[in-house]
Amino acid sequence: MTPMDSYKLWIDNKDKDALSGETFTTTNPATGAPLATLARAKREDVDVAVASATKAFATWSVMDPNERARILWKAGELVMSKLEELAKLESLDTGKPIANARLIDVPRTADTFFYFSGWATKLGGETIPVRGAVLNYTLREPLGVIGAIIPWNFPLLLAARKIAPALTVGNTVVIKPPEEASLTTILLAKILAEAGVPEGVLNVITGYGEECGAALVEHPGVAKISFTGGTDTGRIIMRTAASTLKRVSLELGGKSPNIVFADADVATAAKAAVTAAFYNQGELCTAGSRLLVERSVHDQVLETVANGARALVPGDPLDPKTQMGPLVSAEHRDKVVGYVRAGETEGAKRVAGEPRATGEGGYFVNPTVFSDVAEKMKIAREEIFGPVVSVIPFEGVDEAARIAGATEFGLAAGVWTRDIAKAHALAARLRAGTVWINTYNRFDAASPYGGYKQSGFGRENGRAVLDELTQLKSVWVALT
Ligand code: NAD
Repeated sequence: MTPMDSYKLWIDNKDKDALSGETFTTTNPATGAPLATLARAKREDVDVAVASATKAFATWSVMDPNERARILWKAGELVMSKLEELAKLESLDTGKPIANARLIDVPRTADTFFYFSGWATKLGGETIPVRGAVLNYTLREPLGVIGAIIPWNFPLLLAARKIAPALTVGNTVVIKPPEEASLTTILLAKILAEAGVPEGVLNVITGYGEECGAALVEHPGVAKISFTGGTDTGRIIMRTAASTLKRVSLELGGKSPNIVFADADVATAAKAAVTAAFYNQGELCTAGSRLLVERSVHDQVLETVANGARALVPGDPLDPKTQMGPLVSAEHRDKVVGYVRAGETEGAKRVAGEPRATGEGGYFVNPTVFSDVAEKMKIAREEIFGPVVSVIPFEGVDEAARIAGATEFGLAAGVWTRDIAKAHALAARLRAGTVWINTYNRFDAASPYGGYKQSGFGRENGRAVLDELTQLKSVWVALT
């Protein structure tokens, strides 16, 4: 598969045109030039994909778990063997620096298959000590067809996070990748077929959210929607899913506080704050986009972060030296620049980052650092999902905790201090699904991940996601 090709739907382990024959075109975010043509799936294509996954469920769900495990492990190996192809495609499609795609996106995708392959043979029910001459036990059973919907910032890795746990416990999957960046999801599905995933077990439908995504959410044959994306879309999905009472899990936006105390290793914390805010162009749901700094070290941290932002090397995402790629689309670039303007209008001080777009036709935005940010400003409250960080001073633990909790989100938080008791006490107090102490943006397929508050509900990764992809049946047997 090479870029500039046309891409089709992937149903029954075969390339298929949309039934309407319609297509749509995506652009290369680094240049604005057309990148690929994709099949535009609509309701009738969703019907075909769900019917295929429903049929496949009958055999996949009862397959020898060792066989499912073997296939998923093999998928992880094949992902690693195609590291370069996957990294290049992800970089072209999303604009992320290829060095990051090679180091993180592709290996973590493989890890996800390695980790979840083991669970195929390890998840079971239990016997329950009940009253009377009866045996009572539970069966843990897969749900059926899982509808997966993912965003464009880490499409390959997020596809793996939805596919691997769903398949390991015997579900089948219909996945809708983001219209901006679908290519690696299609390639991943082909890799899974090569690993031995039977036809229909994983189908990919490309298209628009309101058209193809909405049809998947509405479909009565889908048992659960596993969604990662924006908070407003999450609200729509939850409302739509209500009509068929299907299960929903939502991984949504964030406005994560990264809290630096004066008793931290301040130099290390300040350096890490640059990566926390700007990794993947800040297009990261857990981006440390609110940098809370204890007042006595505020100026020192601000200077390091501003210098760090200026030093990030922008450029062609396919150049291994590039640290900052373009944003994913012109529309998203304009939204982010709009936030930078709003910050200035509301009186925050821009200490790094030109608000003008740079680069040759691509959707570049310079890493931007704001100081003098008041809590009520838009840039302090709303998710920007771009390279913009607000530096906010505080005095003491209580004020840090109060400011940290002052948004509708609760995805993640960072705490930097040498005081162990303070760190653990604050970790318990913060209303966030993930807390990092003296580190930031650590993830592992084994560790549960998800939101508090309006950052969503449900957990991905680890043992926790498997509970949400299975259901318990209680069986009673008379012993007399
Ligand atoms: P988005 O919500 O616009 O789109 C996400 C997906 O939903 C896309 O595939 C889109 O086509 C689909 N979609 C849109 N409208 C739909 C509808 N009505 N019905 C069904 N599907 C629909 O989000 P985005 O702009 O692609 O991604 C950015 C957002 O994703 C940010 O808010 C970010 O925080 C969030 N995100 C969250 C996590 C997490 O794990 N919590 C991870 C990555 C990104």
